[in-house]
Amino acid sequence: MNGIPADLPIVSGRDMTDWGRMVHANVAQIARPKTEAALQAVVRYAAQNRLKVSIRGAGHSALGQSIVDGGIMIDILGLNQVLELDPAKKTLRVQTGATWGQLTQVLEPKRLAISTKQEFDNFTVGGSIAANIHGKSIDYGPIISHVLSLRLLKADGEIVTASRTQNPDLFTGVIGGYGLLGIVVDVTFQLVEDRVVEKSESVYMNTDALLKAYVERIRRDPRNTPLCYGFFSSDCKLGFYVTYSYSDAAGSFDLGALKRDETNPILFNIFAWLQRMFTFVRRRAFHTMWAGSANPETTLRSRRLLLWDNPPRAFKDMLLQKYYIPVDNFPGFVKKAGEILGSHGNDIKLLTNHFRFMPANSEALLACSRQDVMCFLPCYFANKDDPGWVKIYESVSDELVNACLDHGGSFYLTFIPATLAQTRRAYPNWDRFIALKKQYDPGEVFSSGFYQQLAR
Ligand SMILES: Cc1cc2nc3c(=O)[nH]c(=O)nc-3n(C[C@H](O)[C@H](O)[C@H](O)COP(=O)(O)OP(=O)(O)OC[C@H]3O[C@@H](n4cnc5c(N)ncnc54)[C@H](O)[C@@H]3O)c2cc1C
Repeated sequence: MNGIPADLPIVSGRDMTDWGRMVHANVAQIARPKTEAALQAVVRYAAQNRLKVSIRGAGHSALGQSIVDGGIMIDILGLNQVLELDPAKKTLRVQTGATWGQLTQVLEPKRLAISTKQEFDNFTVGGSIAANIHGKSIDYGPIISHVLSLRLLKADGEIVTASRTQNPDLFTGVIGGYGLLGIVVDVTFQLVEDRVVEKSESVYMNTDALLKAYVERIRRDPRNTPLCYGFFSSDCKLGFYVTYSYSDAAGSFDLGALKRDETNPILFNIFAWLQRMFTFVRRRAFHTMWAGSANPETTLRSRRLLLWDNPPRAFKDMLLQKYYIPVDNFPGFVKKAGEILGSHGNDIKLLTNHFRFMPANSEALLACSRQDVMCFLPCYFANKDDPGWVKIYESVSDELVNACLDHGGSFYLTFIPATLAQTRRAYPNWDRFIALKKQYDPGEVFSSGFYQQLAR
């Protein structure tokens, strides 16, 4: 580590990967700053020495978004303080290394919550902002809708504020920009009230009838229906959905008595293993889920966004994908997706095949739901360390991406290995995003395996 100033929080790197385990990078150094000043010093050092920088939260992306060959990986987890919480205004300013789990502890007792969260509480604020995440709820769109402002450390070492009125080009570029424009140091969120939800109805039908009923249901009472999501059988011919409504009992509840995890994680691990090993168990799994979906449930909205606080072990060997298709085109896409998945059924095994509505939001430059869309979310049993299996997975993904584009859709950049041409079709502002990167980061300090793959 010749030449690195001793006061910088940098140690030697190693071969690194992420949750996807399909992209590896020989990371030269790892920096673990604990203060804003140390973070700035690392970026200035990298820029002066023409070193690439990648940013890492909890490392749950799948295509090397948080690692870069020969570069410095900045682990942001040490910058995790809650800086300001104003319960009256329902605002929160927090450093981006904080996880949702940390925030849950602070916000739940005050009956406040982040509008949008993923399935687990172990993701970071920074990783969630950079991916402009969306969740299971249908009442709020992607997370950008509830971000008031953020502070961004740019490649020149300066920190600027970005909001809808200050540096709006950075605000809309950085949220959903995968860390390629700079490091988000802290974020100010508009929080929402954390209300109690109750499971209302579950509906099971063949797919054509189900999708009609689903669209009618989400439009019937959107203000009182925060969650309405479903699952298809693996051939996509059958499906069911479950619905949650806000409960009138919202005023008085005992936090400890409200449901937390989806199922016992140990039982889930065993069931997942049985499904991976035995085709007949996998075939029955959809019907078992349907049987379980009738169980009554009362919980907090924020808890229902989650499946578990922390992912069960079985998730280490899964892969997810997300395709977003305009509502009217969704039935046609699902039919095609069922054919594609069915034709690879021996190689590509599905744990679940989830769907949900996502309201339109086109604020982010790289917005994935510019109009109301349905999200199609297959979850695969993966053999991530087997290059032969990964090749098949990439080829199935390619077919699904093309079907999705043919139906006017887009896909989640976090998970889906796509070509530059496919990415441009799905994200019409891709070239504007790259122009913005060149403006703010002309030396390409911020990079990643994901970016280098698309920039080739
Ligand atoms: C099992 C599972 C379920 C998921 N469910 C959902 C879901 O329901 N909805 C959804 O939208 N996503 C979902 N995701 C994807 C997940 O939201 C993203 O992968 C998210 O980025 C993970 O956060 P992280 O802390 O692990 O980020 P990392 O993987 O560490 O980083 C992700 C990106 O964020 C950048 N980044 C991190 N911190 C900063 C920062 N401070 N400033 C700038 N850039 C930064 C990184 O460089 C990288 O490009 C899921 C992922 C998994 C594995």
